[in-house]
Amino acid sequence: MKLAVVIGPVGSPSMPVYVRRLKAQLGYGGTLIVTTRGRTIAAAGPRSTAEMTRALRAEQVGRIRDPVARLVRAADVAAPPPTDLEAAGRTSALVLILIAVLGGAWAAAIGIGARGRRTRRDITEARGRARVYADALRAHTMILARRPDLPADARRHVEHALGVYAEAISSLPEMRSTTEITAFGPRLRGALDEVAAATAAVTGDPVPGDVFAGLCGIDPAHGAAATAPGEAGPRALCDACLDALASGDPPVPRMLFEDGAAVSFDAARYGPELRPEQGS
Ligand SMILES: [Zn+2]
Repeated sequence: MKLAVVIGPVGSPSMPVYVRRLKAQLGYGGTLIVTTRGRTIAAAGPRSTAEMTRALRAEQVGRIRDPVARLVRAADVAAPPPTDLEAAGRTSALVLILIAVLGGAWAAAIGIGARGRRTRRDITEARGRARVYADALRAHTMILARRPDLPADARRHVEHALGVYAEAISSLPEMRSTTEITAFGPRLRGALDEVAAATAAVTGDPVPGDVFAGLCGIDPAHGAAATAPGEAGPRALCDACLDALASGDPPVPRMLFEDGAAVSFDAARYGPELRPEQGS
């Protein structure tokens, strides 16, 4: 049995239709009970919906004010007779009181089903990629900010970039969908491009084609590279990574997860919002 407090019959004409669709989409064989803060309650399960609805009405479950208490009572009323359920199953069902926030995102919110697990994984992975870009933004910005010949007009680029970095660090952990994280990509990328252009204006060098160029190849968060790729191993290394290598502790590149598999940060698919030069 699964229980959920939902905001309403999102995308469906009524709660009974909503709960039947939800049950079908979850591929769940047991009894599924949902309620809203507005006291509507609906159930779908092995017993017929009409039978369960009659039982719920007879017990006046809809009058219980607290949505969680209402669900617990509904679970007792709408569930098949106890002989059909193992005691352990009944107990765990009552623990499974969760809040579904959005119609489309319910699987992630309810936390059951392969789709929900995949959604959560996708969000974690997207957040990890954006975090690498935020770290690269901070590193490039600090390299520019520490230049002794930093012109006055470059300071506002530094300030703007650090503002975007701070926004990324504070908002990324709170983002709850890949859409939200992807939508933040152009802000990160725009700040990186702004810093790259400001750096090129100071150095006179062309803007590098790779966003990670000039940074430590083990982790862009380390900051400026002290070696070029090939000088001390295949990757560019910062001073700290050079020291680690010298002390017999070869540094390992920062890894990201992609479809559940680990890849080095520079081999990940960042998408056109973050890495247009990658072409994907
Ligand atoms: Zn390093």
